[in-house]
Amino acid sequence: MNLRPPAPILLVDDAPANLLALEAVLQTLGEPLVRAGSGQEALRRLRDADYAAVLLDVRMPGMDGFETARLIRAQRRSRRTPIIFITADASDLSVEEAYAIGAVDFLTKPIVAPVLKAKLAFFVELHRSRQELQAAERKAVQDRAFLSAVLEAVEDGIVACGPDGRLTLFNRATREFHAMDFEPVGASNWSQQYDLYGPDGVTPLRPEEVPLHRALGGEVVRNVELVIAPPGGKARHLLASGQPLYDEAGHKLGAVVSMHDVSAQREAEQAREAAITEQTRREEAEAAAELIRESRERLRESEQRVRLATEAAGLGVWVWDLGSDQLTWENERLFEIFGLTGAARGSLEPGRLGDRLTELAHADDADACRAALLRTARTGERLRFEGRFFRRSDRSLRWIELTGILQPAQDATPARVLGTAVDITDRKHAEDELRRSEERYRALMESLDEGFCVIQMLYAPDGRPVDYRFLQVNPAFEKHTGMVGAVGRTMREIAPEHEAHWFEIYGRVARTGEPVRFENEARALGRWFDVYATCTDRATGKVALLFTDITERRRSEESLRRLAAELAESDRRKTEFLATLAHELRNPLAPISNGLQLLRIADGDAEAKERARNMMERQLRHLVRLVDDLLDIARISSGKVELKKERTALDAILGSAVESSMPLLNAAGHQLDVNIAEPGLQLVADGTRLAQVVSNLLNNAAKYTPDGGRIELAARRDGEEVVISVTDTGIGIAAEALPQVFEMFTQVGRHRERSQGGLGIGLALVRRLVELHGGSVTAHSAGVGRGSTFTVRLPVGAGAAAPLPQVPAASAAAEAAPVFRVLVVDDNVDAAESLAALLELDGHDIRVAHDGDSAIAQAAEFRPEIVFLDIGMPGKDGYEVARELRRDPRNRDTMLVALTGWGAQDDRARSRSAGFDHHLTKPAELPAVEALLAKMAGRRQETSAA
Ligand code: ADP
Repeated sequence: MNLRPPAPILLVDDAPANLLALEAVLQTLGEPLVRAGSGQEALRRLRDADYAAVLLDVRMPGMDGFETARLIRAQRRSRRTPIIFITADASDLSVEEAYAIGAVDFLTKPIVAPVLKAKLAFFVELHRSRQELQAAERKAVQDRAFLSAVLEAVEDGIVACGPDGRLTLFNRATREFHAMDFEPVGASNWSQQYDLYGPDGVTPLRPEEVPLHRALGGEVVRNVELVIAPPGGKARHLLASGQPLYDEAGHKLGAVVSMHDVSAQREAEQAREAAITEQTRREEAEAAAELIRESRERLRESEQRVRLATEAAGLGVWVWDLGSDQLTWENERLFEIFGLTGAARGSLEPGRLGDRLTELAHADDADACRAALLRTARTGERLRFEGRFFRRSDRSLRWIELTGILQPAQDATPARVLGTAVDITDRKHAEDELRRSEERYRALMESLDEGFCVIQMLYAPDGRPVDYRFLQVNPAFEKHTGMVGAVGRTMREIAPEHEAHWFEIYGRVARTGEPVRFENEARALGRWFDVYATCTDRATGKVALLFTDITERRRSEESLRRLAAELAESDRRKTEFLATLAHELRNPLAPISNGLQLLRIADGDAEAKERARNMMERQLRHLVRLVDDLLDIARISSGKVELKKERTALDAILGSAVESSMPLLNAAGHQLDVNIAEPGLQLVADGTRLAQVVSNLLNNAAKYTPDGGRIELAARRDGEEVVISVTDTGIGIAAEALPQVFEMFTQVGRHRERSQGGLGIGLALVRRLVELHGGSVTAHSAGVGRGSTFTVRLPVGAGAAAPLPQVPAASAAAEAAPVFRVLVVDDNVDAAESLAALLELDGHDIRVAHDGDSAIAQAAEFRPEIVFLDIGMPGKDGYEVARELRRDPRNRDTMLVALTGWGAQDDRARSRSAGFDHHLTKPAELPAVEALLAKMAGRRQETSAA
């Protein structure tokens, strides 16, 4: 198929037969053949259309061929149309004449068909190439007009020059910048001629600094800042970019520079600078820096666009002809944008705007797009439209931005809109993504149970973080902090006392960008917080905080800790108590079991029996007292004790107490003084219980005073109270221990090895009983080693004093017939006595000592063969005594037997290393003792035999 435009040929002859003959010959050329029967008709046809050639018969009636040819030449449209004369008679015209008239050729009949065809084929070609040339010229003119329309319309200044530095382009924006059109001056005068200055606006640019000059010199220039300040005109800040231009062969064509006006931004910056107040200077400056950075980035973006436009590569370009409503795709890029390749492309040759939109635009955006285009067409307002279009190649939906300007009708061209198109899908997606993530972030923040805020760090001049401002908070923020309306205020404004460590921690997060998680206290807010802090923007020092008020949790943790410590302490005391209890219960058992054996073997010895019984009774009393104390404490603790209150004489109470404590007092050789200031006093009280109280105090005084001490029991009246005090000359109590002595299971120091040691419940019992009576008890001591006084105060009644009973002193041990010389050493008098009595019954020679020193003294004089030695004694303990005895060579063969309440393995090891031969656990059973004696007898026989 021939797509080329037709090249019609006009055949002029008055004889139809001739015309037929010509048509027959020329048919095969395939071009339109137009007939004209006369000169007039030929002229008419030539006025209406362009013809490739005219075949003109010379002889015609009326207007002949020559006349016709002259008129053809005179007509504007056909001035250059080739004319070929045809004549039957060669003499009709001379060649010269024919050419003078304007013919290009002439042929004589009869016509030779191939010649005629060849000639006309040549003219057809000629016609066609001329037409194409004209079309190309028209197109070039149009293109130039289009390009210069674009260049005139853009906001950036664009200047170009030829290789010689002659300016060839100086667009509208440039003319506005300079407030003048260009002048024919050389490159070295540009700076001065066009008022060009450096970024400061006052230093003139040197000629070689002018961007166009540099570009002409072969340099690619990017974003050079300069100022254009025409005299009397507005000074503008511009960013200039440009490059040299080369043709395909690499010859320099000149250079081009585009200039982007950034005055508005510069002014905004300056205005901002001026508005900054002193106290917020620093933060504002930082924000401004950020703004500048952003606007620079935006600038670079828009510049990029201009560059693309200039290079006409990145932008699709289209034209919408308003007269014909034809939308034309002007460049390759546009086809690419819409995915129109191959066959699809062919279908998109110029078409009506409406059809195009139906075909390509998304149904929801088509109307808006049409409306925007129509508005531009009607009002001349710049077109700027973003919408969704289908890309044919992959049927995908793309976001496309259309921009355009109206070019009003000019003489040759009708009104039209010139426009560009860019695929902005990626940008749109990025924007959507950003918006979505912002929405997600906001929704999350709003719905959080945790407190959330974004803060901006504030620094001292030396760079130290000293405060922060709340930029943003979530609804839960108030609940967690108790702070209302925090946004916009600083932490210091709200809580001036807020600790420095908070600022330091957040300052560090802002500086290093590393997130932290921690718990800390904010005293000023009276709260504890669990905080996660992360930096959202290091440049501006923004930190996001996610936090929870953990004050409650902290409190309960704290009280749990306290409770656990208290539990552990009471548990420790209880364990210690149980150990002591076991020990205390076992101590009286030794003498009792000794006594029982004594009774069994002491057949006729009435005196020995009496002594054993007395001793057993004493120990039993002690046991009973211990168990009673325990029961009492348990009963009092569970509120089961009821006082049997009745009118009682104070004297009787004190007498009974002294009586029960007497054995202990005597055993230790203490002196007891009783001072009753007002005899006969009467109280309403439970006499038995009060006697127990006083007896407990006396027992303690006896226990905690070294033997031979002095103890005073005093009673007096003080107003409505009776004051009873027990004072000793004993070991005293350290000041720090005083407050605790009345606590249950409390023992000052550790007296476990002391036979006197108690359970640590005596004083607790005293206090509870006194309190049950509505009284109080206190302890005083001038310090360790300086004695103690316990004072009981009780509400009073009236009464009379009673005489105190006389207490007999403890008796000494009796002697028995010796078999061995045996020394028994034990600070527990009963234990010592009972063992001594047992051995005495067997006829051994017995001595008894109650402490280490007297044991050593007795041994030196008595020279015992066997020593039963208690380990746990006050002063020198059993180990020390044993070592000392062993040092004397005379005691080399003496058998040393350890007595201990603690049968543990390491005690045996210790006693062996101290020089003991044997180890017995208290109470020592008679069989074990007898076995030892038998061993000793065997040894003696061996030595005497030797
Ligand atoms: P215990 O059974 O240990 O004697 P108490 O409750 O009677 O228990 O006494 C508690 C602690 O108070 C004793 O272990 C002892 O350390 C101290 N204490 C009590 N009375 C005296 C005192 N008169 N002199 C020195 N310390 C005493």
